[in-house]
Amino acid sequence: MQSYTLLAPAKINLLLEVIGDRPDGYHELVMVMQSVDLADEVKITPLAGDRIIVRCDHPMVPTDSSNLAYKAARLMQQQYPGHGGVEIQIQKRIPIGAGLAGGSTDGAATLVGLDLMWNLGLTQAELEYYAAQLGSDVPFCVGGGTKLALGRGEELSPLADLDQCYAVLAKYDSLSVSTPWAYQTYRTRFADCYANSPEAQEVRRRQGPSVPLLKAMQAQDYVQIGQCLHNDLERAVLDELPRVARLKETFLKHQPLGCLMSGSGPTVFALTQTQAEAQALAQQVQAAIADADLQCWVTQFCRFGISVLEPV
Ligand code: ATP
Repeated sequence: MQSYTLLAPAKINLLLEVIGDRPDGYHELVMVMQSVDLADEVKITPLAGDRIIVRCDHPMVPTDSSNLAYKAARLMQQQYPGHGGVEIQIQKRIPIGAGLAGGSTDGAATLVGLDLMWNLGLTQAELEYYAAQLGSDVPFCVGGGTKLALGRGEELSPLADLDQCYAVLAKYDSLSVSTPWAYQTYRTRFADCYANSPEAQEVRRRQGPSVPLLKAMQAQDYVQIGQCLHNDLERAVLDELPRVARLKETFLKHQPLGCLMSGSGPTVFALTQTQAEAQALAQQVQAAIADADLQCWVTQFCRFGISVLEPV
């Protein structure tokens, strides 16, 4: 049995709309998700026995059974017993609790890596089916690229690739957001915005902010795309975290194509059409904020999710 090293990219949300409640307790969502080339490296190595061991070079990442990579390995062992144990080594490059699906992409990489290592020949649809049992963002992370995600995030449709778009990501190192907290805060403050019957939810989907964004994406109109970015959770999270609100204001002063908080935050991203513009923007924002706690990454949109870096 061979070891595999996989690249596990982060995602940003070009759109996140909370439509309403679902009978299963999750939120009904409309999301436009985009992979970017900031990625963790996940190495999968066979182990004798049935043990699952997770190692990570970042001290804040749990390595016990709460790690999404561990959960993915356990799920695969349950579904396909008899293939033995696995050691999963994660090199963390995606910031934690950032709204960039860092844990989800490690879980997706473990599914893809075990499919290869155990020679299972699973289809992308089968991998996404298992991924949905691990978390709402995990199915997207398997195939990545540019996708529309409905339901609780697991109903995926591919969208035309957005070539030549760069995202400057910015996050305060000391600030993380728990996804359940962000949704709970939104729910408490904006319950009147919820559409809960299937009919009302369909009307919301047809009339919501995804309509102009998808039109702009279809036309590859980057100026319009920048203006149509939308995240419902911003209203709740930016009110609670004024530093993040100020970060967004600072980005906007430098007139990027558009600027938005990703997912449940607190990462804020701004779009540009060239790498040089992205690098200049990152420098301008770091100079304006002048806080050593602020980290910036210049990333490019990418067309893929989990990919094999090298069979070892
Ligand atoms: P999302 O955008 O999918 O909501 P996030 O990017 O906001 O997620 P993560 O980086 O996935 O957040 O981390 C959230 C929590 O998940 C962490 O505080 C950590 O305890 C836990 N976690 C479990 N597995 C991992 C992992 N492989 N990497 C990072 N965090 C993990």
